Amino acid sequence: MGPGMRSTKIVATIGPASRDPEVLEQMIKAGMDMARLNFAHGDPAEHAETARLIRAAAERAGREVAILGDIPGPKLRIGPVGGDGVAELGRGTNVVLTSDSVDGSSARLPVAWRGFAELVDEGDVLYLADGAVRLRVSEVTGPDVVTHVEVGGSVASRQGLNLPNVTVSLPAVSDEDIALVDAGIDMGLDYFALSFVRRREDLEPVHEHLRSRGSDIPLIAKVEKPQAAANGEEIVDAADGIMIARGDLGIELPIEEVPLVQKRLLALAGRAAKPTITATQMLESMVHSTRPTRAEVADVANAIFDGTDAVMLSQETAVGRHPVLAVSMMASIATATERELPYGRWLAERGPQANNQYHAIAFGAVGGVYQLGLKGIVAPTNTGTTVRLISAYRPRAPVLALSPSRDVVRRCQLLWGVTAVLHEEPMETLDLIEACARAAVHHGLASVGDRIGITAGLPAGRSGGTNLFKVHTVE
Ligand code: PEP
Repeated sequence: MGPGMRSTKIVATIGPASRDPEVLEQMIKAGMDMARLNFAHGDPAEHAETARLIRAAAERAGREVAILGDIPGPKLRIGPVGGDGVAELGRGTNVVLTSDSVDGSSARLPVAWRGFAELVDEGDVLYLADGAVRLRVSEVTGPDVVTHVEVGGSVASRQGLNLPNVTVSLPAVSDEDIALVDAGIDMGLDYFALSFVRRREDLEPVHEHLRSRGSDIPLIAKVEKPQAAANGEEIVDAADGIMIARGDLGIELPIEEVPLVQKRLLALAGRAAKPTITATQMLESMVHSTRPTRAEVADVANAIFDGTDAVMLSQETAVGRHPVLAVSMMASIATATERELPYGRWLAERGPQANNQYHAIAFGAVGGVYQLGLKGIVAPTNTGTTVRLISAYRPRAPVLALSPSRDVVRRCQLLWGVTAVLHEEPMETLDLIEACARAAVHHGLASVGDRIGITAGLPAGRSGGTNLFKVHTVE
């Protein structure tokens, strides 16, 4: 920690290329702040083992890392493809998609949803392989949907099937999704993300289930449907954070709309002080190459200029050849970009919310960084709320969150500019202030003679009562 620290957070998807203990440790050392487990692939036992490996690697690296469980939600998928699991669909040929259970081939592909044929009409366009393969429906007969391959390519078992102009009446959260939430709670995950959210009500079954299990694990809404882009305000309000999931968003919406949705939703979430992740194809060429393209570097930088808390790696770290290099490249781009961010403008634009004590204190603390040149902010926290608000106002100085709760420390790993460490809070006010100052020196935030900001809730040790901001000279 200290002047050279990186503020933007890095999320990396764990897969076959990164499940190795040594690779995980190197990724953490290179800057991975949050690991994503994609529950659309693999089984819960395998994910539980991966979570255990991540915790062990974090322990060895001497840092807390958050783990996110990404719940598939209502995504249509093709079923298993026979042979080596890959089918080549040639341009100009026909392929039948069927809800009958068949072994997939280039002539017939199973779709694991009985009502599939009733959803589509002649002329509808369907996409496979993340939009790379385009099919047009030519006929529907019983459970069979005959399609014409307009753009060919290879498709693999369990790949997603997108129907951009069709309303899919699948439930927002299935029994399988809820079973994955249960498995994630048992794994001790720090965040969940829900895919294909369309409106605020879609989040409710997961929130309700978490409550019924006595869990307060935050839930991130993945914005990847046109309806989610249109319902941005209510989704940001209902979720604990959002992910701009540009992979599916770029199929479900005209691809040229994606940067605009990204900018608009990151601004919305920033004003609501909800953490944000910008995802997919950020350094895609690093799946094979040791260097990204200039355009990819600019894309990562632009997401940070747009105000994202975190940038995410998907294929790059899940199946790519250079998972550690991809993380360190992300870290270098972030560190360089952060030299030129519109810091004070974000503070003004995001402004304090009317009549809210926590926002007022966070706003004052970050204002103190700009007006008084405070070297950093130390924030003892029981719930992470004040830290989340301070982070949203984007101080150009490090924020040190001190929490007695390991869960809160891990959740803070997603927040822009925040370093969080485990710390038992002393109960007496003066001791608390001194403990904060000592922690600031210990973690390289400030030296003797520096002025720092300290936020706290008094009396100490009680949840959710931030009511103090002190400008403090370190002695
Ligand atoms: C995306 O579509 O961009 C995304 C992040 O979701 P997934 O990787 O689960 O398809």
